[in-house]
Amino acid sequence: MGSPSSCGGARTRSFWPLLLLLVAFASSALLAQYQKAPPDFGGSYSFPTPTHPEPRSGVALGIDLVLLAAGLGLGAYLVLGRRSRAGALALGVAAIAYFGFYRKGCTCPIGAIQNVTLSLVDPRYLISYTVLAFFFLPLVAAFLFGRVFCGGVCPLGAVQDLVVLKPKRVPETLDRWLRWLPFVYLAVAVFFAGWGIPTVSATGKALSGRRFVICEWDPFIGFFRVAGPFHMLAIGAAFLGVGAFYARPYCRWFCPYGALLSLASRFSWKYVRVTPDKELDCGLCAQSCPVGAIRANRADRADCLACARCYETCPRDVKLRGGDGPVELELHRRTAEAADDVHPAEPGS
Ligand code: SF4
Ligand code: SF4
Repeated sequence: MGSPSSCGGARTRSFWPLLLLLVAFASSALLAQYQKAPPDFGGSYSFPTPTHPEPRSGVALGIDLVLLAAGLGLGAYLVLGRRSRAGALALGVAAIAYFGFYRKGCTCPIGAIQNVTLSLVDPRYLISYTVLAFFFLPLVAAFLFGRVFCGGVCPLGAVQDLVVLKPKRVPETLDRWLRWLPFVYLAVAVFFAGWGIPTVSATGKALSGRRFVICEWDPFIGFFRVAGPFHMLAIGAAFLGVGAFYARPYCRWFCPYGALLSLASRFSWKYVRVTPDKELDCGLCAQSCPVGAIRANRADRADCLACARCYETCPRDVKLRGGDGPVELELHRRTAEAADDVHPAEPGS
């Protein structure tokens, strides 16, 4: 095994090229609409000067962006620095209140996938700076600190996190296959946002067939708006019902932005480490992770949703917090059982 410092060096080297790639992609999304020359229709037609449509006032948009950046920073501090489950939970409740109910789930990086795609494909489509920032900020945060956006800033994730009651394990092979679905959904969403399937209307008008399917099928938007078509409210309720036993099903097996975050967080600079300075390997953290992201007693950077639950059960963390009780008793029981397995009791003793 390489030393922790040498691993850290390799990670840092692979991290910066990817961050630069992300910045280059962001710039191209923004510049695409200006660099493409408009079609020459001839005659005296003059093209309108492009403006970035901002649906809200500058101050309100500024507040949204500041809160997003602050939420990401606070999430990283609470989950990676303070290792606080209570902190992540409180942040999630605040995200549900502001980005969910108050902003009605509208300032959303998940849906922004479609705006970014369309702005790259069609120079006539103008994307707002706020939407661009909402799309890229959580990805940059994932390169730096893992999926802290999912840990407590995304209202869709936070609302699913609140209903987790008695998480059950999904068979590993099935889970592995299901985790490909977000990538399939991402490809479908990008295709429909950028190109679509052209159709003809009843009046004979040619329609591009472009659609924002992520928004059309957002299972929680109706919940945040306390209104919506019955079938969407029912799908949202079904996700929450299933989520009581199979934690965060939309995050794990559907969310297309989660697919992008899982790619970015593979190279994250800092990330959830259950036992950063000592090998405990008792396995209690793996049992406590509701999304099955701990493998071989280590949090998988791509799948870890930064919820901070594993710290709650880690004997090292419990001790650091000055705690005692059920977790330590469980650890003692396991240690005793393991010792019995190695040195079985003599018959009759
Ligand atoms: S996986 Fe998607 S829905 Fe879940 S918390 Fe992350 S961004 Fe939000
Ligand atoms: S490893 Fe699991 S329990 Fe720990 S922070 Fe990540 S998702 Fe939560």
